[in-house]
Order: sequence, then C-alpha cells, then structure tokens
Amino acid sequence: MTKESYVSDVIIVGGGPAGSTAAHLCAKAGLSTRVLEEHSSIGYPVQCAGLLSNNAFAECGVSDKSMYNTVSGAKICGSKGHALTFDAKITKAYVVDRGRLDYEMAVRAAESGAEFSFKTCVTKINPAKKIIHTAGGEDIPYSLLIGADGPRSVIARGLLIPPSRFIYSGIQAEVPWEGDPSLVELHPNAAPEFFAWVIPLSESRARMGLCGTKNVPDLFAKFLSRFKDSTVHSVTGTIPIGIRTRTFGSGCLLIGDAAGFPKPTSGGGVFTGVRSARYAAQVAIHSVEAGDMTDSFLSRYETLWRADFGRELDMGLKALQFRRNLDSRDIDSAVDALNTPETLDLITRYGDMDRPSDLLKRLAMKPELYGTFGKIGVKGIFRSLFG
Ligand SMILES: Cc1cc2nc3c(=O)[nH]c(=O)nc-3n(C[C@H](O)[C@H](O)[C@H](O)COP(=O)(O)OP(=O)(O)OC[C@H]3O[C@@H](n4cnc5c(N)ncnc54)[C@H](O)[C@@H]3O)c2cc1C
Repeated sequence: MTKESYVSDVIIVGGGPAGSTAAHLCAKAGLSTRVLEEHSSIGYPVQCAGLLSNNAFAECGVSDKSMYNTVSGAKICGSKGHALTFDAKITKAYVVDRGRLDYEMAVRAAESGAEFSFKTCVTKINPAKKIIHTAGGEDIPYSLLIGADGPRSVIARGLLIPPSRFIYSGIQAEVPWEGDPSLVELHPNAAPEFFAWVIPLSESRARMGLCGTKNVPDLFAKFLSRFKDSTVHSVTGTIPIGIRTRTFGSGCLLIGDAAGFPKPTSGGGVFTGVRSARYAAQVAIHSVEAGDMTDSFLSRYETLWRADFGRELDMGLKALQFRRNLDSRDIDSAVDALNTPETLDLITRYGDMDRPSDLLKRLAMKPELYGTFGKIGVKGIFRSLFG
C-alpha cells in the first residue's frame, strides 16, 4: 500500500509542543499517527522567550536538559526608575531552550510510534473531500486531522475560521546584561500595547524583547538601546491573542496557537497549547474507537478545553483590552499604588502565570487602585474585567 492511499487514524499538522503532545498521546493509545512538519527538523527557528511556569514545564513532560535558569519573582518597572518587585523565593518558572524542549517532546512522540514527515508543508485542505494538499504536490487523505500549525494555521483557514482578535508581533534578542538572575523584568511603558521583557539566562546574559501590533521594530530598537548590543541570537514571531470563534469541524480539531490559545496577559502559549493537545488526543482516541468524526462528536473537545482554561483566556483578553487603554502615567501610578507590603504579599501568594484570574479579581478589589484609575472608575474596572 502506498503512503498516498493509506489513511492514518489521525494526521497532525505541526510538530511544535502542541502537535508533539497530541502525537505522543494518540500513538501511545495505538492510533496510527502521522505528523506533517514543514521544516526539516523540530524546534527551529525558535519563536519564544522560553519562560515556562512550573506547571507549564511539567505539562511538557521533558527532562531538565533544556533548562537554563529558574526564576522566583518579577520586577515591574515604571518609567521614573521605580519598580514593583515581588519574589516568592521559590522557583516559580523555568527559562528554557525551546528548540531543545520541542525536540525532546517530538522524540517522545516518535518513540511512542508517531511517524514524522519533514519538509512537508501543508498548503491547503479540502474539508469536503478530506484531503490535504502539500507544497510537494502530495495529496494526503485524512479521516481525522489535528491542526497544530501555529499562529498562521492553514487548517483554520481551510475551515474558513476567522483569525484571533489581535495578532501581535514579537521581537527578542539575547544580550549581555547584569542583574538578579532570579527575577524577570517587565517594562510596560516600553511597549504600550503589552510590555517589554528581560528574561535572565544567567547573571550576565538575558533575553530582552517586546511585542505589539504597531511600530514594533522601532519600539524594539529603542528598548535595545538600553543594553549593550552584542546580540548572538534573535527571535521574531507572531502571537495570536483571542480564541478563534470555532476550534473544531469537518473532521478537524485546532490546538495550541492555531486555535488562538496564547494567554492574553503574557503571550505564553505552551501551557494552554499542551493542555489543549491532551483534550484533542482524548477526543481523537474516542472518535476513532467509535468511528464517529461528526461535528457533534468532536464538539466534546471544545467542552473540555473551555472547562479547563476558557474562562481564564476570556478574562485575560478583557485584562489586555483594559491594559491597552492605559497610558504611561496610568502605569506609573499603578506601580506606585500597588507598591505596599500587603499588595506585594497578595501578588506573591496568588500570582499564577497560567491562571491569573484569581489575582486579577483580588487586585480589582483594592481601593488604592481606584484612585489610580480614577478616569476609568471602579465600575469601569469591574466591567472591563468581569462584565
Ligand atoms: C517572541 C515570542 C515570545 C514567546 N515567549 C513565550 C514564552 O516565554 N512562554 C510561552 O509559553 N510561550 C511563548 N510564546 C508563544 C509560544 O511560542 C507559542 O504559544 C507555542 O510555540 C505554541 O505551540 P504550538 O505547538 O501551538 O505552535 P508552534 O510552536 O508554532 O508549532 C507549530 C508547528 O507547525 C509547523 N507548521 C506551521 N505551518 C505548517 C504547515 N502549513 N505545514 C506543516 N507544518 C507547519 C511549524 O513549523 C511548527 O513546527 C512566545 C511567542 C513569541 C512569538
């Protein structure tokens, strides 16, 4: 039987963390699983700052070989030289080499029995005929397809699903730096629609970058000028913010960035990507067992991920929209207003990179912030976040 005529139980487009997780779980359950990856290897080019919470790193199920550094807190820097610093004094997140992490995840999938086809770029799908077209001219039939093909998902486009609400562009460089390697720095005023970051790799090097939808190269050049520029590694990439209006249909499931799952409060997408992959694999396994690839069967996938992190992403999007309305004076006032021992303790205790809604709710109830956001008002804060 030729590869063209053989229909795998499940085909996964994309060998990032989401695709490799789904491939590992499907293959481990005995499904014939094929991963189509456009590049000739896994993990490169890297399009990530590599900051993963403890939970996100654990979700990836890899060894510590990709780990560069651990961090225990953060410093949110205002524009007048003052900062909000909170430090839990225990590891809260890992700084990793994403190329290496992705590679290890793909090896695990291959060892479970998934077949990887490299240099296989999917250009189009025909959902009516259930056929994948590739740049190499191959037509691959599918019965169940998982779209793990990142922010510009060809699979989502083939299903006519509109893109995410915001498409952010990110730029990052690795630079010489001196500072506390246990603290991540955030600079909201360097990137007015989001924030700029400094993520320490060691006591002497850090990844610094930012993202936004407008003037990103100019903002980045300005931010980079604060550092000694002897960049040996730079990264650019796209972060889709806002869940797509549909994440399944016509025998397909969308996972990770392809579904618009990055967290709007941080841009991080590995945690939700891997968790969505687990739900997609679970539904794919049951769907193959039942021989049912109907929309009504596949809709279980959406129920599962929504119950897990849907509310967090919805609230995160509201928080991002709120942040987009703040100017640098608002940010500086907020840094001052939050800088009390009680609030810092609250942030240290309840801060969770992956599930920030609990902390956001607690902060929204702090009376000292109401003066800061006087122009928006207490009702405005509540309506923005919880309305
Ligand atoms: C500058 C920047 C910094 C970031 N920092 C962080 C961070 O610190 N922490 C964090 O958690 N997240 C971060 N992210 C987001 C994170 O990188 C993504 O959310 C994550 O990679 C999503 O995983 P994925 O498997 O869904 O998609 P991807 O990792 O994008 O993988 C998609 C795969 O599909 C392949 N592919 C795409 N199209 C096709 C096609 N047509 N045919 C075949 N193969 C295809 C690609 O080659 C790729 O291998 C950052 C993103 C950017 C841009």
